[in-house]
Amino acid sequence: MKIQFNDLAAQQRRIREDAERRIRAVLDHGKYILGPEVEELEEKLAAYVGVQHCVTCASGTDALLMGLMAQGIGPGDAVFTTPFTFIASAEVIALLGATPVFVDIDPHTFNLNPTELATAVGRVKEEGRFVPRAVIPVDLFGLPAEYDAIMEIAGGHGLFVMEDAAQSFGAVYRGRRACSLADLAATSFFPAKPLGCYGDGGALFTNDDALAETLRSIRVHGKGRDKYDNVRLGVNGRLDTMQAAVLLAKFEIFPAEFLAKQNVAAHFSELLGKLPEIVVPYVPPGMNSAWAQYSILSPRRAELQRRLSQKGIPSAIYYPTPLHRQPVFAGCGHSTEIFPVAEAVSEKILSLPMHPYLSDEQVCFIAETIGDK
Ligand SMILES: *Cc1c(COP(=O)(O)O)cnc(C)c1O
Repeated sequence: MKIQFNDLAAQQRRIREDAERRIRAVLDHGKYILGPEVEELEEKLAAYVGVQHCVTCASGTDALLMGLMAQGIGPGDAVFTTPFTFIASAEVIALLGATPVFVDIDPHTFNLNPTELATAVGRVKEEGRFVPRAVIPVDLFGLPAEYDAIMEIAGGHGLFVMEDAAQSFGAVYRGRRACSLADLAATSFFPAKPLGCYGDGGALFTNDDALAETLRSIRVHGKGRDKYDNVRLGVNGRLDTMQAAVLLAKFEIFPAEFLAKQNVAAHFSELLGKLPEIVVPYVPPGMNSAWAQYSILSPRRAELQRRLSQKGIPSAIYYPTPLHRQPVFAGCGHSTEIFPVAEAVSEKILSLPMHPYLSDEQVCFIAETIGDK
């Protein structure tokens, strides 16, 4: 049996009937835009996450963008985030004319380092070129960032905090779910994410009534009373009813899939933790990762990746180039800055197959292949 990196076909076999039934219902009622499935999904996801409001939208990137738009982020503003993430986390900042300020990561969790954040905010304030406005911590690979420390630092400087929970839907941080850990959270339903649809999709989560209202307005061209009454700049950022129908079917099995991944990850870490050169993912006490990726550090990554590939085991590198090294941000003044931890990690990180349908035998086979020299 071929090992998949992320087995969406196995998942589809479980939900196919339910998904088809729900898609047929959409075809029958014909409310393709903001149909009843969208509202049903928003209610279910808000209850699961434990917040007042869920505002679904067209993608994780739109979610991040809409969140910053709702705060009026723009030219002259500094928004702090990690350089070790997917481009979207920082892209949305620059799209609005604001300046992404990168902050190095923690070497164990690969998430934004709160101590470095405090230093960076202080430096930007002292320099006086940009006004510190917001922080976007990323829950990388599904593991929540250090929110207690981040919220305290942000609170001290009056900064808005938006969780980039694109990879962490379902994760747990000290008794609370990811997407409920900051002022606002953005997640993605891209097919490969922990909760994915069959296309693009995303959502925002908050307890702030006024903010949720603003986001619903931004989602439909800054609508006021209706979409022909435009009170602010917005986007066309709605989630399709079809995708909401798919998500409702997938959400039914989400808790079971989440548990299955905890077991796969524990099994991997038990086997790989014994290998001298391999560093297995660190999950701090009181946290559960959503395991968007299971990523190890290997000092001889290229050789390891070749060996895995020879045995038919797929692997991937997230992320080979930290964002401060990306050509698109060359003008941001970061090209001369170094983020030593992000750079070191990007040279050793390797993501292994991770999904709820990996068998014990497959996990053992992957671990043995990694141990073989
Ligand atoms: C996937 C991802 C996004 C963007 O989500 P899309 O739905 O693809 O737009 C943003 N941030 C992170 C960390 C991601 O992994």
